[in-house]
Amino acid sequence: MLSIRDLHVNYGQIAALKGVDLDVNEGEIVTIIGANGAGKSTLLKTLSGLLSPRLGDIVYEGSSITNMKPHHRVEKRLIHIPEGRAIIQRLTIEENLLMGAYHIKDRRQIEEGLVRSYELFPILAERRKLPAGTLSGGQQQMLAIARGMMANPKVLMLDEPSLGLAPIIIQEIFSIIRKLNEQGTTILLVEQNAKKALSIAHRGYVMETGHITIAGAGTELLNSPDVIAAYLGGH
Ligand code: ATP
Repeated sequence: MLSIRDLHVNYGQIAALKGVDLDVNEGEIVTIIGANGAGKSTLLKTLSGLLSPRLGDIVYEGSSITNMKPHHRVEKRLIHIPEGRAIIQRLTIEENLLMGAYHIKDRRQIEEGLVRSYELFPILAERRKLPAGTLSGGQQQMLAIARGMMANPKVLMLDEPSLGLAPIIIQEIFSIIRKLNEQGTTILLVEQNAKKALSIAHRGYVMETGHITIAGAGTELLNSPDVIAAYLGGH
């Protein structure tokens, strides 16, 4: 569904991605783990068109999207939920949700999206008319996911959804990601929380300083001595 070949991305003279190859098949949860600064966020920003690669190709549903504008990628239902969530605090919860459907003209489709969001996250329904800034961190992450779902994604890319959240909320966020996948959304998940991310993933990649160093099934990576030593805090 998504094939990334020999992707190189620079910030000026700094090479952040140095030849990344990665595949996401329809229906999968694929996770990318790696230390701070490895290049994970850079990869997602390049896939959504916020950054342009110096070299390499991104193929989505059989066509190259390497030079496609970000809003066209959104129309093709390749959706990015950025690190930090990008919630507009002053706007209401419902207004934030509607921003996720800014490009959709069909009023009924938008209404259906709202109904789906509120079914998935009843807390958002209860507070729909309140400023998003009144939500807790975990609820804001739920809002960011629901806003992404308003665009009816085929592929949902999430950057560090568990960042800064309490363990019980993290559990809830991971359950939701799994549920969305079971309902048909393909997921590309970037996480520091390697154990949780690998345990819900079909496949995983380890990224180190702009390269993919290990690739395999989620369970394979969870049991890999190298991954355990470097990312799972074990022996
Ligand atoms: P994190 O989890 O901290 O976001 P990451 O794996 O997502 O880490 P990136 O944010 O993609 O890593 O960063 C990759 C490299 O690019 C790092 O060396 C980082 O310092 C550098 N970098 C990221 N953003 C910029 C920028 N706007 N300008 C210059 N260098 C940058």
